[in-house]
Amino acid sequence: MELETSVEFLKGIGPKTAVILKKAGIKTVRDFFYNLPKSYDNFMSPSKIKDIEPGKVVIKGHVTAMVNRRARFRRLNITEAVIRDDTSAVRAVWFNQAYRAKQFADNKEYLFTGVFELKNGRYQLTSPSAVLASEVEMGGGFEPVYVAHGKLKTHDFKRLMNNSRAVFNDIPDLLPTVKPGTRKEALFNIHFPKTEKDIESAREYLSYEELFELILAAKLNKQETKKLTAAAIPFDAAKIKAFTEKLPFALTNAQRLAAWEIFQDMSKTSPMNRLLQGDVGSGKTVVAALAAYAAAQSGKQSALLAPTAILATQHFESLKKLFEPFGLKIALLTGATKGKNALKTAILNGEIDLVIGTHALLTDDTEFKNLSLVIIDEQHRFGVEQRQKLLLKSPKNTAPHLLSMTATPIPRSLQLTVFGDLDVSILNELPKGRIPIETKIITEVQQKELLYPKITETAGKKQQIYWICKAIDDDTTSEVTSVKSRTEKLKKLFPNLTIEFLHGRMKPAEKDEIMGRFADGKIDILVSTTVVEVGVDVKNATLMIIEDAENYGLAQLHQLRGRVGRGSEKSSCFLLTSGDNEPSRRLKELEKSTDGFYLAEVDLKMRGPGEIYGSLQHGVLDLRIANLGDTRLIKRAQDDAVLFLQNPENMLKYKELMSGISHYQQLTTLN
Ligand code: ADP
Ligand code: MG
Repeated sequence: MELETSVEFLKGIGPKTAVILKKAGIKTVRDFFYNLPKSYDNFMSPSKIKDIEPGKVVIKGHVTAMVNRRARFRRLNITEAVIRDDTSAVRAVWFNQAYRAKQFADNKEYLFTGVFELKNGRYQLTSPSAVLASEVEMGGGFEPVYVAHGKLKTHDFKRLMNNSRAVFNDIPDLLPTVKPGTRKEALFNIHFPKTEKDIESAREYLSYEELFELILAAKLNKQETKKLTAAAIPFDAAKIKAFTEKLPFALTNAQRLAAWEIFQDMSKTSPMNRLLQGDVGSGKTVVAALAAYAAAQSGKQSALLAPTAILATQHFESLKKLFEPFGLKIALLTGATKGKNALKTAILNGEIDLVIGTHALLTDDTEFKNLSLVIIDEQHRFGVEQRQKLLLKSPKNTAPHLLSMTATPIPRSLQLTVFGDLDVSILNELPKGRIPIETKIITEVQQKELLYPKITETAGKKQQIYWICKAIDDDTTSEVTSVKSRTEKLKKLFPNLTIEFLHGRMKPAEKDEIMGRFADGKIDILVSTTVVEVGVDVKNATLMIIEDAENYGLAQLHQLRGRVGRGSEKSSCFLLTSGDNEPSRRLKELEKSTDGFYLAEVDLKMRGPGEIYGSLQHGVLDLRIANLGDTRLIKRAQDDAVLFLQNPENMLKYKELMSGISHYQQLTTLN
């Protein structure tokens, strides 16, 4: 049987089962074999029932006295049984697993594993896994546990897998270089392990395979980008110097280095694909401005894409000041822009050097004369399709240079694997004179004593305050405080201060007006949702208050906090919690550190890469088995992928590999 064969051709899989499997993404024989167990039950060395103690136990026995009932008040189905061996008996309980009632034959012995515990004054074995003892003993004791899909439970997957034992022999190797072992062995052992060692070596084999695929996809992306042609933007040292001399500050060394790397890339005829990574407040915008300025000086157009209108407007205001003294034309294009048609004509005629905008930039009727540089701010906010749309606006048969910017660092492990096609510049230095932000977790009852005086003090110094709330309106089903009710409360508490609110559902013009007044120092406290999360830069704001802080992720909290500490005054951030529970690890880490790179590593460890990066890209990067912390295996796969690519015949020879990785190429490209 071929791996491509549709899954219903496997023994025992009828049309109904096939429908459920396909819904779960298991469409082919290959998918079926790569649907790996999520864990294993170890049924080796069962205990006598008389000897078991509370905790995880393994026992062997017959099932007697099976009953199945519905709990009266809840929609709960309870199955109870007595498990008996030659020493004693124990009660087992399952919830919403009605099929258990029919699972056991009277005269057969089963192995059970689960937690033995005291519940409602009685000891019981709660929701144990169960398998026929004779089958397990044949295998060796490790029983795979599969994720249930619809009606298909773990034992169904085991049965189907068992039916397909013979098919494993047909599985060819995917890769040329894996040693030791073969793919058919690895896949067989992961589903039918006899020993711990079987599981370990199968995992290693399959992890290596997966890493190899990821790395190869990244390398191919890079090769493909190299094949495209871009307009070279020559580096003109004198002009760049003139521009930097007009800046209101001296560039940091990190900014200089990053700009230098960008100028080098842009001077080539293959397109740049560079990620500018710098913590919040590290000054990425001015580096982008330098790149756009260089392009404009050589008569080429640039586009800067930002995720929100507030941010686009802010970029426009600050870059206008830098560009206009040089006679360069800059424009803003958002959903709210008036006279769009005239502006679009000007862009098409090449009268605009730099267009800054939101998603409005992506529409088909926004055309350029010679778009040569695309800058994407907060790149993780955009999907592949959106980036593609903008990249395709460069003249026919060319690709623009691409500069992506992010404050969410991509950890080294991911850079080596998933995003291996990227060149990365890092701003690892904050502009001079910044004082680290002081962060404090405070509970509701501490607010009056700790927070209110701080607000009075801050406003007294004519500095400004952000107060972030999770919700816009009050909602009876939720306990989070809304922007509107918080604004009312604050107005009563601080009648002398100017307090306004901001949220995503306001009209663009209203938002701009409020943001403009805040930037001009005319508002003391801005109560807002996370619309101010990314990029917004008001140096005079020095106090950030995040209400219901437990409701945000680490990266988001760090971003929000980064709205203060942008000038030379000392800034503070207060994380408000209800105080009912111990603060989460997230909040504690945030209190401890202001280093975005450190926090990103912590986040990666706590949540895993799929959740952080996967869902932000096109589709979800769901790693089957590989662990991106395994640097040894990554290194091996890296080296082997290089060797693989040295022989062009490999691409023709390893067809399954090549078709599989095109999926990863899609998923992981930042182009
Ligand atoms: P981010 O990297 O978060 O996008 P910005 O580009 O918004 O940061 O810059 C943050 C603030 O720092 C801006 O007000 C900017 O003008 C200022 N800034 C940037 N570079 C420097 C520098 N070298 N020295 C002083 N201030 C700087
Ligand atoms: Mg920014």
